Amino acid sequence: MAVSLPPTVRPIVRGWLNSNIVVLRAPGDNVAIDSGYCTHREETLALLAGPAGLEGEPLERLINTHCHSDHMGGNAAIAAAHGCRVTIPEGEVKHVEPWTPQSVWMARFDQRADPFRFDDTIGAGDTFEGAGLTWEAHGAPGHDMDALVYFEPRHRLLVSGDALWENGMGFVWPEEGANPAVAAAHAALDAIARLDPAIVIPGHGEPFADTAAAIGRARARLDAFAADPAKAARHALKVLFVFALLDKGSMRVEDLEPYLARVPCYGELAHRFLGMEVPALARWMLADLERAGAVTVRDGLVRPTMPA
Ligand SMILES: [Zn+2]
Repeated sequence: MAVSLPPTVRPIVRGWLNSNIVVLRAPGDNVAIDSGYCTHREETLALLAGPAGLEGEPLERLINTHCHSDHMGGNAAIAAAHGCRVTIPEGEVKHVEPWTPQSVWMARFDQRADPFRFDDTIGAGDTFEGAGLTWEAHGAPGHDMDALVYFEPRHRLLVSGDALWENGMGFVWPEEGANPAVAAAHAALDAIARLDPAIVIPGHGEPFADTAAAIGRARARLDAFAADPAKAARHALKVLFVFALLDKGSMRVEDLEPYLARVPCYGELAHRFLGMEVPALARWMLADLERAGAVTVRDGLVRPTMPA
């Protein structure tokens, strides 16, 4: 069911490689939240400027929910096009300054992002003005321990990033035994439940109104993954690989195994949680993703089925 938002609050819904962009319209003080993935920078600029976004007006400020590559990859392009102020969560500074392949996770996960400069930071308890409304920043650790969500109390709107989607949330890195990230994610969902948002605008997927049901689904997933770290690892492996496929568009079947061997996160997860070596991992991954309909294999090429 379509939700009803103030006309100045404009989510631009995208796919899984590119996070949604939330445009908060106010003449002379336009704000956007999150910026998509770097390879789609031209599309990002066009969507942002277009009829669903700024309608040709300039952007004054760009704010991130967190600094993963699918949320901040377009920061540099947007800043260059609009000369806007760039604001990141204060906990993310250590990941982007200095900008190295390690600090921004690129080396370990084979993701990309254009280096960008930020002008200031925002932390839990801070507020900002967007669309003539005041938005509160709340900590939402778990998927990213430094992530924030943004809440507007008058209409009870929540921009949730990857802390809560309609069906789940951004994956939490698995651990054997007690997992502080899972505990943090539950606490973040507690905090969201207390805010009692009427409408959630997630980082991926359409805005939704049934927050309680979504929180219940996210909690059930967290619990299932916490109870079975191997299941959590399999999920993380598939999510990371599909993301890489969305980035590349396709991969030759024979390149799959060398790719998984080359990019550190795959061997790490498979070895530690599944006791599996890379050749077995490649066979399992392809068969499982194909069975689930997440990829197709044709003419020797693996392709993702979901939108970028
Ligand atoms: Zn995301």
